[in-house]
Amino acid sequence: MKFTDFGFDPRLMEGIDASGYENATPVQEQVIPLIMAGKDVIASAQTGTGKTAAFLLPLINKIITDPHEDHTNNALVIVPTRELAVQIAQHMEGLSYFTSVSSIAVYGGGDGNAFVQEKKALSHGADVVICTPGKMMSHIKMGYVKLAGLKYLILDEADRMLDMGFYDDIMFIIDSLPKKRQNLLFSATMPHKIRELARKILHHPEEVNISISKPPEKIKQEAFIVYETQKIPLVKHLLSKKDFKSVLIFCSSKISVKQLTRDLKRARFLADEIHSDLDQPKREEVLIQFKSGRLPILVATDILSRGIDIDNIDLVINYDVPHDGEDYVHRIGRTARAAAEGSAYTFVTVKEQRKFMSIEKLLGKPVPKAIVPEELGETPAYNAAPSGGGNRNFSKPRRFQNNNKR
Ligand code: AMP
Repeated sequence: MKFTDFGFDPRLMEGIDASGYENATPVQEQVIPLIMAGKDVIASAQTGTGKTAAFLLPLINKIITDPHEDHTNNALVIVPTRELAVQIAQHMEGLSYFTSVSSIAVYGGGDGNAFVQEKKALSHGADVVICTPGKMMSHIKMGYVKLAGLKYLILDEADRMLDMGFYDDIMFIIDSLPKKRQNLLFSATMPHKIRELARKILHHPEEVNISISKPPEKIKQEAFIVYETQKIPLVKHLLSKKDFKSVLIFCSSKISVKQLTRDLKRARFLADEIHSDLDQPKREEVLIQFKSGRLPILVATDILSRGIDIDNIDLVINYDVPHDGEDYVHRIGRTARAAAEGSAYTFVTVKEQRKFMSIEKLLGKPVPKAIVPEELGETPAYNAAPSGGGNRNFSKPRRFQNNNKR
């Protein structure tokens, strides 16, 4: 589903484009229309599924388009940790960049200056307040936080907040809010205590369940941390190291598919390509060649990642980091189907590191990092690049932006 299908305000669409998002992830597809329709929602979705944008986008859109009071805090996003508050504030900054929607992150551990800014924003009224429970409670107790016009409450990673002992703080905050509001609750897991919390807070909620299937254990997964220019030489190296019978290489764009196939053919590998620029008969012909084993190497865009039944693939290479965890699992699931085992290699460039880290989080463990052969030169270190994951490189989160611009 394209973002243009949601009917978002053009200013928000600009932020979505600038963030590099094209298609909605499954959780976004399900959750966004419900929030736009004003429903309470309880969603089980882990980090890496795109859940943050799933609530920020409709929230920003509603704040732009629905009438609301200016001098009040409009939406409260409660999260377990300071790191998550900062991360969501950065998302918010990126997505709302071309709108006049204001936001502030409120979390513990800041200096006196941060406190003054938080106090100023909370007593003046920010559109979206992203906060940790303890810090928000302290502000509310001091009496200046404008909450009378608050319309939206979001609890993110609710299971983690309860595990961290924030139940009382959360209930204190909620007791200070107007009763009539839209409530959204996101949680990676749905234990009994979360259901109880939901029963207390949500009104006739719609339930969304995005559970990610884990890849089969028998797939040997490895990641190569590389620079963009090392990718083609590395593919050639890997293909010549062992006699693979059937190799599927996924690229995120048609351009990379065409370029890589051209290079492989030039180096005398038996490779062909499949993507949406080819007509249906040509696609089928290539696929038949590949399935029959006459064509050992197929380079493809994501059109091949889901649902297509090809057995006996012994190697999948992710030439680019897949869009999200779900796509990763689908892509590497092409190998080791009928075969006893298969391998899945993923190339991760510096700007894709953050995206890959969120996929690893979703998988529940890191993917082992393979050593790039010395003759290909120095490789980058694996540590999350601050502006990766398809995000545009925005400045630090604004602690407060004047919201009288509207
Ligand atoms: P989250 O699950 O909210 O932590 O998001 C995980 C990563 O996916 C973040 O780096 C987001 O910027 C990115 N992301 C979220 N939605 C999309 C989308 N529709 N297309 C591409 N990337 C996305």
